[in-house]
Amino acid sequence: MKEQTLILIKPDGLVKSLTGNILTRLSETKLEIAAAKMVCVSPELATEHYKHLKDQPFFGELITYLQGQLHGRYKVLALVYWGEDAIGKVRALAGATNPEEAEPTSIRGSYGRITSKGVYENVIHASSNAEEAEREIKLWFQPSEIILDAYPVKTITQTSVQQKVWA
Ligand code: UDP
Ligand code: MG
Repeated sequence: MKEQTLILIKPDGLVKSLTGNILTRLSETKLEIAAAKMVCVSPELATEHYKHLKDQPFFGELITYLQGQLHGRYKVLALVYWGEDAIGKVRALAGATNPEEAEPTSIRGSYGRITSKGVYENVIHASSNAEEAEREIKLWFQPSEIILDAYPVKTITQTSVQQKVWA
């Protein structure tokens, strides 16, 4: 089944100059890139993204990690990949959540580490199922930023919306 999945190259992936490497690994899947952008992650976005983990002892640290405070690189690269079995293929390539348990040749197995505070710095986020992919893609992207209609859209007219345009 053709599907889409959200991928984030987390701040540790950026600071370790792994972007090209990770994109090359992802190209092995033969999936298509449907969207890509750099995002400065607000506390609200990080909290919403990881809301299923809010009761975990490492939650606070995880939010600072995704925002880039642990690495002094305050952004992530957000991507949507599309194609046959996209979610499973990217998860397999990413490897297990815990870098110590991840297949050594997987992205997380190759480049991840566990900090002394116990957070898994695992370089990449990948949606784990179709429901999660839909929630996450809608959280990180607007329909106009994705080159396919990933999910149903509607057109609305907005007045008095302030936005930056080229001067
Ligand atoms: N995480 C962690 N310790 C844990 C579980 C998760 O530091 O015991 C972090 C890790 O960075 C992981 C993220 O929280 O990628 C989200 O956790 P999830 O269980 O959703 O794993 P994922 O879907 O990323 O494999
Ligand atoms: Mg997850």
